[in-house]
Amino acid sequence: MICTAPEKIFAPAQSRPALARERARIAHELLADCHLCAHDCGVNRLAGETGLCRAGADAHFFSAQTEVSDELELMPVFSVALSGCDMRCDFCITGKESWNPRSGDALVATRGENAADLLRRRGVAATQLAEQAKSALANGAKTIMVLGGEPTIYLPAALEFVSHLPADAKLIWKTNAHGSAQARELLDGIFDVWLADFKFGNDACAERLAKTPNYVRVVRENLLWANDHSELIVRHLLMPGHVECCWRPVAEWLAENLPDVKVNLRSGFWPAWHARRHGELASQISTGENETAFGLARELGINLIQ
Ligand code: SF4
Repeated sequence: MICTAPEKIFAPAQSRPALARERARIAHELLADCHLCAHDCGVNRLAGETGLCRAGADAHFFSAQTEVSDELELMPVFSVALSGCDMRCDFCITGKESWNPRSGDALVATRGENAADLLRRRGVAATQLAEQAKSALANGAKTIMVLGGEPTIYLPAALEFVSHLPADAKLIWKTNAHGSAQARELLDGIFDVWLADFKFGNDACAERLAKTPNYVRVVRENLLWANDHSELIVRHLLMPGHVECCWRPVAEWLAENLPDVKVNLRSGFWPAWHARRHGELASQISTGENETAFGLARELGINLIQ
């Protein structure tokens, strides 16, 4: 087994691109015994085995463009959305791409390949995508975001992409906060901002709506770590019927444990993908629920942002 002790991964004297390049190499090797997320599958993705995310060794992406629908302080943002996810949220707004890790174009790493190899694999090279990102920055984008699906499952490709970006670019890691301790070690010092979801306030809702066990413990671990190692913004999407069981415990935990963290409380839920499998998710959030949720945020002193 490859050693993942922090002293083996962390090399703070390096520039970010160099650090990302070295971590991409390590992360690629770790696919031989994949523990990148908290599902902890231990499969050999380099040999064609797949775990719960169904992802192989090569990343795919379904979108790469400048967007203006994220947090105001981050926009305009050049966003690269990697296909596939380790969670199975029935209400996912990009369900088709997030549940299929081979959706879109291959994002081809440049580890040792020559031009003929790249052509054979018919993908977009990480260097090409980085050129698009640099062009977006030159045209007014403020930040570069890597998201999914869930980018943690394709950490080697995400790190490879970062290794070709300018060292001073402001980089955002948009995540479901379900990564493993190993993934966090590989991400240490790479992204300036973690934009992390805290979707469910209890494990029963996470199991029923997203087929994800031990959700609350894992997300809390990731948020506490992210707050210590980078800037952190937490997102919570209000869902109909889940203000008391999900938002209230999330808000109370944030107020107690991360009292100053920025929180984007989003009320734009709509019944996307398989949401209608669950009766309470067949509609939008009501005005009354919305008022209760924001009232609770004010009462607890949550640091709300837009
Ligand atoms: S990324 Fe997560 S779900 Fe996918 S194979 Fe690795 S441990 Fe399993």
